[in-house]
Amino acid sequence: MFEVCKKCLMPNTRPKTPFEDEICQACKNFDTRVNVDWDKRLDELRTICDSHKSKDGSWDCVIPVSGGKDSYAMVYWIKKVMGMNPLLITVGDPFTKTNAGKSNYRNIGKVFNCDHILFDVSEDLAKRLIKRGFEEFLDPLRFIEQILNTIPFKIAIKFGIPLSFKGESPFIYGSSKEENRSALEKLYRNINDFDVDFWLDQGAKIEELNSIMPPTKEDLDKTDPESYFLSYFVPWSSISNLKIAKRYGFVDLTHEWKREGCMEDFEQIDSMAYLVHIWLKYPKFGFQRTSDIAARRIREGNLSIEEAKKIIFQLDPVLDQLALKDFIDFIGYTTEEFWDVVERFWNKEIFEKEEVSWKMKKGVRF
Ligand SMILES: [Zn+2]
Repeated sequence: MFEVCKKCLMPNTRPKTPFEDEICQACKNFDTRVNVDWDKRLDELRTICDSHKSKDGSWDCVIPVSGGKDSYAMVYWIKKVMGMNPLLITVGDPFTKTNAGKSNYRNIGKVFNCDHILFDVSEDLAKRLIKRGFEEFLDPLRFIEQILNTIPFKIAIKFGIPLSFKGESPFIYGSSKEENRSALEKLYRNINDFDVDFWLDQGAKIEELNSIMPPTKEDLDKTDPESYFLSYFVPWSSISNLKIAKRYGFVDLTHEWKREGCMEDFEQIDSMAYLVHIWLKYPKFGFQRTSDIAARRIREGNLSIEEAKKIIFQLDPVLDQLALKDFIDFIGYTTEEFWDVVERFWNKEIFEKEEVSWKMKKGVRF
C-alpha cells in the first residue's frame, strides 16, 4: 500500500528505503546527526588525507565531479580545506548541455586550479543503449550510470592513485545499512553488478563495453584502493553545498530556464534531457525528484509539511517539455512513441487512466 513518511512525506515506494512506524529510514538516519561530533569527523578526514598526501607533487586523490553544486563542495573540502592535489574526472551524459552546465564544468577545474579529465562515451553507442534502457526498464541512463561508477575508479587505479571520494552516502537517502563512511563496498557492488550479457543481448559489441569493465585484479592488488563518502565527514546538505558552490562561481538556471515540474533551479542542471530520466520514476513509483527534494528540505528545517504538500501535488506529475524534446530528439522518437513506451510502466495500484492520460487515484496520496 502506498504510504508516505509522516515526518518528510517520502513515499514507501522509494526503492531500498525501509519504513517503520510510518517513519522512513532517511528521517531516522537524519536524526542521528545531532549526536555527531563534526570536529572529530573532520579530524578523521584529515588523518586519511594526511596519510595519502603527495610528497612529490603527483595527484594524490580522485574526485568524480559533474560540475554540480555537490561537486564544488567536494573539491572545496578536499583541495581548499584538506590541501590535497586532486585529479577531477567527469563522465559526461550525451544530452544537450545547458549554459549553466557548460559554465560550471569549465569553471570547477579553473577556480580550484585542478587538472580535469572529461570522459565521453561514444555517442553512437550511448544513443543505442539509452534507447534500450528506456524501453526495457524505463531507465534510460542505466548504462551511463554504470560508466559513472566504473570510469573514475578505473582511471584512478590505472594512474596508481589509491584514494578517491564520493559525495553523499546511501545513509543520507535512507539506506539502513552501515554504508556511511567507506564507499568501497558499494563501489565494488556497483561495478560488479553490471550485466555485460544484457548489453550484448541489446546489440552492443564486446569492444564497445570497455567503459563498464571493472579494473583488473592485478591493478587492484597493486593500488590497494580506498574510497570514502564525504557526507560522513562534513554536515552534508544541499543548501550549504550550494552556498559553497556559489562562492566559487557556480551558476544556477535562474536566468536561463524555468523548468516545469521542478521546485528549484540548482539541482541536476547540467544537461536538458537528464530531467526526463529523473521524471521517469513517477509512473513507476508515484513520485519524482520534487518529492525527494521536498523531503530533504523538510528534514533540514527549510520547508513546512503543508507547503511541501502543495508543491508536490502541483509539480510531481509534470514533465518539462523542453527536456522531453531534447530526449526524443536524441534517441529519434516522436512524442507519441515516447508516451507509448511509458504507457507500459504506469503503476496501476497508484494510477488510473483518464482518456489518453494517467492520473493518480484519489486518496492514494492526496
Ligand atoms: Zn521521512
